[in-house]
Amino acid sequence: MTERSEHSSMYQDRGLKIRTLHVRDIRFPTSLELHGSDAMHVDCDYSCAYVTVYTEGDVEGHGLTFTIGRGNEIVVAAVKSLSPLVVGQDAGQIFNDFAGFWRKLTNDSQLRWVGPEKGVIHLATAAIINALWDLWAKLQQKPLWKLLVDMEPEQLVSTIDFRYISDAVTKQEAIAMLKAMQEGKEEREERMIRIGYPAYTTQAGWLGYSNEQVKALCSKYLAKGFTAFKVKVGQNLEDDLCRCAMVREIIGWDNKLMVDANQVWDTEQAIEWMKQLAEFKPLWIEEPTFPDDVLGHATISKALKPLGIGVATGEMCCNRVMFKQFLQAGAMQYCQIDSCRIGGVNEVLSVYFMAKKLGVPVCPHAGGVGLCEMVQHLQIFDYICLTGTTEGRMIEFADQQHEHFENSIHVLHAHYIAPKMPGYSTALKAESAEAYEYPNGSKWEEMFAKGLFPDPRKQNVFVCQAN
Ligand SMILES: [Mg+2]
Repeated sequence: MTERSEHSSMYQDRGLKIRTLHVRDIRFPTSLELHGSDAMHVDCDYSCAYVTVYTEGDVEGHGLTFTIGRGNEIVVAAVKSLSPLVVGQDAGQIFNDFAGFWRKLTNDSQLRWVGPEKGVIHLATAAIINALWDLWAKLQQKPLWKLLVDMEPEQLVSTIDFRYISDAVTKQEAIAMLKAMQEGKEEREERMIRIGYPAYTTQAGWLGYSNEQVKALCSKYLAKGFTAFKVKVGQNLEDDLCRCAMVREIIGWDNKLMVDANQVWDTEQAIEWMKQLAEFKPLWIEEPTFPDDVLGHATISKALKPLGIGVATGEMCCNRVMFKQFLQAGAMQYCQIDSCRIGGVNEVLSVYFMAKKLGVPVCPHAGGVGLCEMVQHLQIFDYICLTGTTEGRMIEFADQQHEHFENSIHVLHAHYIAPKMPGYSTALKAESAEAYEYPNGSKWEEMFAKGLFPDPRKQNVFVCQAN
């Protein structure tokens, strides 16, 4: 019996049943200081639907999906609709056939009508799937990246549902990619623990920040060793020209500048606008137009290529099929996977394999609640097991809400140091979850009393209470 099958049967023998699944609506009042603001999303309250999976043992799994405030209650409701498919299941059996379970969760014969595999129902899937991976990693007493790294190629690939993408990458090809990178894994792992994975910062460039704030933050992050900076653009061309000039003046021309329009433009408008900003040599324009417009992104990519500007997108790319099309059509030069926009770790892994095959670097989207915590695990896996390089790749970093996590990120000299604690780094501190639960948490009660936000319980607004 191989070591792997011993582990597998150990789970089955334990009969570790999932006893219950709990979901909470957690919101942080970030709109008060315009953190997270961009050309499209002007008043974000960084939020998450926060799932806890309780087993009959003493280990719990935590997972979440990120939203920006209103609508979080709808994701919470969708998690509740999915939970009967999870509660009562044997965790070991789920992990033994994770692709099969994932298909069951995403393809319930009635629930799939409100997707399929997109939108609110898929965000809810991500929160649940992420909680199950956190549980698995904790049972193995490993950080998630290490759980992935230590799996045999066949076992890792067995967690992925290849339906709809086998014309882009097959299971056999994915296994072969992992096998081809076995050599040097230990050195790469050691590098991730010692030096970490390169990061870039978005924190200096939120659109609602004043010029003074932007300048001060650019200087602050330069001093911390950051060499890549992203600013939000797209509301006003004159302002963008001024802001890019100001940022270039502070960071110089050897460092990288990226710009992000958060979907505000039409295709032609994106091309014209970016021609104006080309003098500032941005590495990429992120989300220039509507996130489903594959051919529009391809047109923009083609037009901006001679200017040395790539197109980056993916944070709102709704599933692996859309990623496949973007990658196949030459519509993204930087693939920005998100840990909870698509259906959790299983589906994100499938995108990594397609990106590797089509030669597109992955630069994960992060910055929202828990996103930095999660994507570091995925990107570290990519480096150790799949691509073996950080060339042209970075993880987004924003310095927000980390204080609410039990095992928060450790960024040193602009690098994410590989986490050591078991799990997916998704557990919120109990006191934070209590205080920021919407609308009944103590912090929200205080803010309603001060008149900072309207109390939804006094309006005729749908509130999804915790179960
Ligand atoms: Mg973005």
